[in-house]
Amino acid sequence: MDLSLTESQQKLKDTAREVFEVECPTSLVRAMEQDDRGYPADLWERISGLGWSGLPFPEELGGSGGTLTDLAVLLEEFGRSLVPGPFFNSVAVVGLTLLDAGTDAQRTELLPRIADGSVIATAALLDANARYGPDSVSMTAERRDGGYVLNGTKMFVEYANSADLMLVPARSDGGVVLLLVPASADGISLTRLDSIARDPQFAVEFSGVFVQDGVVGDASQGNEALKRALDRAALLHCAHCIGGAQHVQEMTVEYTKQRVQFDRAIATFQSVQHDCADMVIAIDSARLATYDAITKIEDGQSADKEIALAKSLTNHAYKWTTLTAQQIHGGIGFMEEYDLQLWTRRAKVAELKFGASSGHVETFAQQMGLK
Ligand SMILES: Cc1cc2nc3c(=O)[nH]c(=O)nc-3n(C[C@H](O)[C@H](O)[C@H](O)COP(=O)(O)OP(=O)(O)OC[C@H]3O[C@@H](n4cnc5c(N)ncnc54)[C@H](O)[C@@H]3O)c2cc1C
Repeated sequence: MDLSLTESQQKLKDTAREVFEVECPTSLVRAMEQDDRGYPADLWERISGLGWSGLPFPEELGGSGGTLTDLAVLLEEFGRSLVPGPFFNSVAVVGLTLLDAGTDAQRTELLPRIADGSVIATAALLDANARYGPDSVSMTAERRDGGYVLNGTKMFVEYANSADLMLVPARSDGGVVLLLVPASADGISLTRLDSIARDPQFAVEFSGVFVQDGVVGDASQGNEALKRALDRAALLHCAHCIGGAQHVQEMTVEYTKQRVQFDRAIATFQSVQHDCADMVIAIDSARLATYDAITKIEDGQSADKEIALAKSLTNHAYKWTTLTAQQIHGGIGFMEEYDLQLWTRRAKVAELKFGASSGHVETFAQQMGLK
């Protein structure tokens, strides 16, 4: 598979790296860990102003007509610099779900506003069992007065405190219906959750929340729309993680050249070299599997096996790279004052988002006909 970037993708990547190196230094990442909202308004405006929030939407809907691959390339840079904010949920989960499954009216009304950053959306995908997929949705949506009444709690909803809209899968008449719910609706309450990544995550309780016109697209197609949303999100999340892992690998190689033990840079020790080489192999394998699966989805092909492979490899690559980097850095990597721990903590949280490895390995085994 040819993984080389097109000219425009390379330009996008280079620009994003330059912008984030200047405007999202680790001092900002650290400051946002202590901030209630979790991201600065000017960075959000800058990201939207550069056209990135509309990257995967058509031009007539305020976007720039980019592909899923383009968005993945951009998200690698978000992950590399640990850019805080609701971009992933608003654009890559909710925006793309509306583009894929929404009505013409929803697309026309909301996508230009997600693209210009004036509407922030988040995805409330997990119920109390914290499992992904249509079969795991337990929140109820009861039909009433031409709308739906929602009851239940969604877990680990990121940036719920900043969102104007939430995408909420709920169970109705046996199937899943996808609903867009205004975050200010009566009956919604937020409880902040502690996260090892120190990002804003919430338990969102829906208590008799009435939604009049919130169904995304066709109510009978919710199961399929949710599955497609999760497939896309899992792969784009992989790209985000690969960017983070790549940066950790590069900073670790740099460290091994600087750190001297027994009058030699530790980069001269074979065991250190082998660990660094293994990082590259793990990251490149994850990247290859991820872009292969994205290409299949873009071509409209089924990609369950490829998605499972990409997520399993990425889970391994990001967590293993950060833990091995900790080992190579010795005591300094462990210190809060040193930047490495910023990535290590996020790698652990990232492993669980859109499915831990056990579930994806199970899917992979099934797809191989082993079960
Ligand atoms: C929470 C914490 C508590 C601690 N408490 C104590 C304590 O109570 N008492 C105490 O004395 N120390 C303590 N330490 C320090 C600890 O002993 C050192 O961090 C540890 O020995 C590693 O040394 P270093 O950090 O200087 O890493 P370095 O010596 O810089 O080693 C970094 C990496 O270089 C590589 N490396 C180094 N030398 C070689 C070699 N010869 N061959 C191959 N690879 C090599 C390894 O990959 C290693 O992991 C503590 C550290 C931490 C994080």
